[in-house]
Amino acid sequence: MKIFGIDLGTTYSCIAFVNEYGAAEVVPNAESQTTTPSVVAFEEGGTVSVGDAAKETLNTDPDNVCSTIKRQMGKRDFTFYAFDQEYTPEAISAIILKKIAKDAGEALGEEVKDVVITCPAYFGLEEREATKKAGIAAGLNVLAILNEPTAAAISYGIKTEEPQTVMVYDLGGGTFDVTIIKVENNSIRVVATGGDHMMGGKDWDEKISSYVIEQSCQANGESVDSVYADNELMGDLELKSEKAKKQLSQKDSVKVKFNGETVEISRSQFDQFTSDLLESTITKTHETMLEAEKKGVDHYDKILLVGGSTRMPQVDARLKQEFPNIPVEFCDPDQSVAKGAAMYGLNMAAFAEFSEKDNNGDGPTITKEEQEELRRNVFFGTGSQAKPITIKNVISQCIAVKLICEDNKEHIVNQIFKNTEIPCEHVLHAGTHQANQTTVAIEIFENASTDEYVNEDLCKALVDGELGPLPAGLPAGAPIDVVFKIDENGLLSIDAEHKPSGAVKHLEVNLQNALSKEELQEEIAKVNALHI
Ligand code: AMP
Repeated sequence: MKIFGIDLGTTYSCIAFVNEYGAAEVVPNAESQTTTPSVVAFEEGGTVSVGDAAKETLNTDPDNVCSTIKRQMGKRDFTFYAFDQEYTPEAISAIILKKIAKDAGEALGEEVKDVVITCPAYFGLEEREATKKAGIAAGLNVLAILNEPTAAAISYGIKTEEPQTVMVYDLGGGTFDVTIIKVENNSIRVVATGGDHMMGGKDWDEKISSYVIEQSCQANGESVDSVYADNELMGDLELKSEKAKKQLSQKDSVKVKFNGETVEISRSQFDQFTSDLLESTITKTHETMLEAEKKGVDHYDKILLVGGSTRMPQVDARLKQEFPNIPVEFCDPDQSVAKGAAMYGLNMAAFAEFSEKDNNGDGPTITKEEQEELRRNVFFGTGSQAKPITIKNVISQCIAVKLICEDNKEHIVNQIFKNTEIPCEHVLHAGTHQANQTTVAIEIFENASTDEYVNEDLCKALVDGELGPLPAGLPAGAPIDVVFKIDENGLLSIDAEHKPSGAVKHLEVNLQNALSKEELQEEIAKVNALHI
């Protein structure tokens, strides 16, 4: 019985399990690589390739290659078209998951079924739901969706006896995530999280591409616009730029051959023309530290570097310069997230309360005997010292409500701020606006602002509901309570009530972008029809 941790990355994915010695181990793919590019290439006749082979197709058939799909998770307005078929972000992610699960299964000689999949800490509810559905569409039993920095901290620090405050600086291929975590007594608490899910190593690649285009066009007189319009040339350059960037982590300069020219780039030039990107990660880091400070964090024991892009020497150097008193350590940049997820999954399996029925659905396919065996033999203190890992999380978005305020105008007012520890409950004591009101509109929003009053443009609507009917003849200001509850998985539920009359309304949060059951079935059928 194995439980797998899957780091479903923007640019690379990785799968790991905990071996019989209690150590987390990455399973290489069929191409003997420890990470697989999260790239999918469609071919005529329903064949798809995933990974390096798909990436190579960028050169020859870029229109049928889909990459960085993670940036589209939870969005309804995105579909990828290939050979007259539409694919949702869940379906594309499912294809990637299928490939890495299949390869790992073949390498180990057993089916990959029970998994924990990771996502950035600031993924909202819809993105998490989409990640889970991608796992289901790939035929996997998704035990949990775990935050990437928490997984990294598990693989790094859970054995630490001393309490520690750790900042996880995670710069991957397509996301930047900074998370402040407290580790103590096998409990991992996320104190604050921030970052930018549209920034990552890809942006550094693009800077190289722009530089190469500019220099090569200067040399051969070709127009920059015509190069950008040439998909094949651009596909070729994308690969070369990433390669050059990786080489610059080892060498002082590289030469890129492109469009008949050779462009030389030194590491210091590279550092210079990408410094705005690096600086923006430092700004985001300070913003998150400020949030943590408000919650009592006044010192850091270490900064953990996670994500492939932290291999760029500029990252380590800049962080040491900015935070001279905090040790900066590498945390197995490519593998720690998958390994931590596997460790968490196994720990979950060892300690969760499973009944027989769970084996058909949400729980791991594990027998009571296996569970006892796990507790006896597995890491995190063996035998009587074995302990469950407790994970405490925060919400990554603010929850707000529309109110008529003292200026007699409607405003959206934040009620629960991001980085509030969950589970949590909050009661808003409000009142009717006018006499004789028989209904009260309840509009709830999600946003990432840190202000109390938020512009509607920055908000995503979660609920558009109504409490009523209220008894006739109520005066203005009749008491209306809105109770917000967020559970440990970040799921929000809202009740509005007028206590004197007993009028209560439970309001469902509408995940507008989530696939319905029927839609998920369609995606499963599509994915299953492909030869991966
Ligand atoms: P991850 O999403 O954590 O797998 O990170 C993938 C990103 O790390 C991609 O943008 C890679 O180009 C980048 N990366 C991997 N190795 C290196 C390296 N040696 N130097 C610079 N960037 C790297």
